[in-house]
Amino acid sequence: MNPTAGSNGPPQRRPDGSLRHLLTLESLSRTELEQLLERAQGFVRPVGERPARSAALAGYTVANLFTEPSTRTRVSFELAAKRLGAQVVNLELQLSSRLKGESMLDTVYTLQAMQVDAFVIRDAEAGVPQAVAANVAPHVSVLSAGEAHVSHPTQGLLDALTIRQRKGRFEGLSMAIIGDIRHSRVARSAWHALRTLGVRDLRIAGPAALMPDATEFAGCSRHTDLTSALAGTDVVMMLRIQKERMGEADLPDAAQYFAAWGLTRERLAAARTGAIVMHPQPMNRGIEIESEVADGPQSVIRDQVRNGVAVRMAVLETVLTPRGAAA
Ligand code: ASP
Repeated sequence: MNPTAGSNGPPQRRPDGSLRHLLTLESLSRTELEQLLERAQGFVRPVGERPARSAALAGYTVANLFTEPSTRTRVSFELAAKRLGAQVVNLELQLSSRLKGESMLDTVYTLQAMQVDAFVIRDAEAGVPQAVAANVAPHVSVLSAGEAHVSHPTQGLLDALTIRQRKGRFEGLSMAIIGDIRHSRVARSAWHALRTLGVRDLRIAGPAALMPDATEFAGCSRHTDLTSALAGTDVVMMLRIQKERMGEADLPDAAQYFAAWGLTRERLAAARTGAIVMHPQPMNRGIEIESEVADGPQSVIRDQVRNGVAVRMAVLETVLTPRGAAA
């Protein structure tokens, strides 16, 4: 594996232009993003109704290979594949072969020999989904479920879907992403998706040590305090501190962090009336967000979770049954 590969991997498309892998949102056009959102919206059902199902992936097998902890992403990929009729295998590699020295690629080759059609990969090392995509058989697809701090494409899509449902548009919206931007793959994928979809006023804010390098997040304004970041925004995305991507010594004090950056009901009043509050979870209540906001009327955090399944259904169906190939 090339740890520096980041998002520069093999092409995501087949020679006919259809999407074969989903490793990053960077190269997706606005039309492609809108088509994925439209397809995902078709899988959303109101709370209390039975979830959407189809047999589109009957006969396919999807393997979830996760080496970093995950709750929502892993479960929602599993539900998405099952609701489309696929079989699913789940491997938490830190608990099994990787510890014994077997590489990710060897695991992939083993599963490929068992006729797995799609690999869903999460790893703390940049470049792993790309390395797998570069080595699988031509009919096999690879989906990133979170690549180090670099990208989390299905999260970017589910965030965009949630905003579209609540605001009905992207143009003219103001959005602030607040917290540990530096180590956040969620922020990077949100930025890729939302600027392509037409959000022009994108703001990032957090303590100086948790802000990204100046070369990153082109087109975003940078804010050094919460109130100026929130002023007049329609969408507020709060992020947790990515403890696992920094040394103990660099961790901010929780109480000081909440005092400066924690989203409270009073502080949220700086945003536009009816602004929505997002969080990819896991949440640290009382550090980056207080419970009153997380569970309050402006929170769309549970919509994000529900939309995650729909988005993953749309992505799985798109890559495994490309235009023209499906019956
Ligand atoms: N669940 C998200 C991720 O995998 C956000 C987080 O962990 O803070 O990146």
